Amino acid sequence: ASKAGGRGRASFYSPHMSTGVVRRLQLERALRNAIALRQLSVVFQPQLDLDEGRVVGFEALVRWRHPDLGQVSPAEFIAVAEDAGLINEIGEWVLVQSCRIAAQWSRPLSVAVNLSAVQVMTQDLPALVERALRQSGLPAARLEVEITESVLLNETEATLAQLHGLNRLGVRIALDDFGTGYSSMAYLRRFPFDKLKIDRCFVQALNRDPQARVIVRAIIDMATGLRMATLAEGVETPDELEALRAEGCTLVQGYLVAPPLPVEQVEPFLARHAASGVADLGV
Ligand code: C2E
Ligand code: MG
Ligand code: MG
Ligand code: MG
Repeated sequence: ASKAGGRGRASFYSPHMSTGVVRRLQLERALRNAIALRQLSVVFQPQLDLDEGRVVGFEALVRWRHPDLGQVSPAEFIAVAEDAGLINEIGEWVLVQSCRIAAQWSRPLSVAVNLSAVQVMTQDLPALVERALRQSGLPAARLEVEITESVLLNETEATLAQLHGLNRLGVRIALDDFGTGYSSMAYLRRFPFDKLKIDRCFVQALNRDPQARVIVRAIIDMATGLRMATLAEGVETPDELEALRAEGCTLVQGYLVAPPLPVEQVEPFLARHAASGVADLGV
């Protein structure tokens, strides 16, 4: 089953259906006030360039802490927000916050912001992104947006126009969770992607399953031939990093480098990282 389609919805159709529905309504109600009540925040996970041996950017990931429900995973609440018509407001908030925060960093590193398929279908993304860049002062070249393959299911002229509009601003576009959804090679020609993010499921299987390694190699070769960068997601062990390096992957992200960091931990991380480079990753 596709990850994009199953996210959140999996619990809805689970055997614990009644629990799922109750929880969903509860989340939806709570989510309506989450921004106003300042319950949302953004955390930042470093992305390491293997050639340069340094961190070149961060992925922005939304967090929601509710006083009673506690920490709710975005894997759960983003789907609720999409169904409840709340994702545009949340997505816009994450975008603006991420640009503002990145504009303050001591180094000109990039920030990657996830966009929901609903946002791509319903919002004027070039206008939205241009406004976020202008208000924050972040140069377009430092912003990347991540979309999943589910966006391409609605492959229309409008979708294409949205992505080309972003491209024209000078914003980069990454295809997230590559290989888990509707993986057609045809759209790689039509859409202006700058980066493929190889899903964690392939990374995990790399050193256990020779087939996974062949697939990862093929993805990297294809991306490289199409002049796209490749980033491996969810890298947790030095063995995984070594295998990815050997296959020619250019960027990695995962707990091995660092978990997603609260905003105030970004500069201390960068200072530590500058001192030790990749030496402390065991490779
Ligand atoms: P994603 O965009 O593929 O983000 C990667 C997820 O993997 C993040 O989960 C991250 O915390 C987690 N991760 C990173 N390194 C590792 C690792 O080494 N091992 C493991 N096991 N996990 C790792 P998170 O933050 O819970 O987000 C889950 C998903 O929710 C994201 O997947 C993305 O699809 C969605 N999401 C998160 N923030 C946003 C947002 O601001 N907007 C939208 N539309 N979606 C978001
Ligand atoms: Mg992502
Ligand atoms: Mg991903
Ligand atoms: Mg993923």
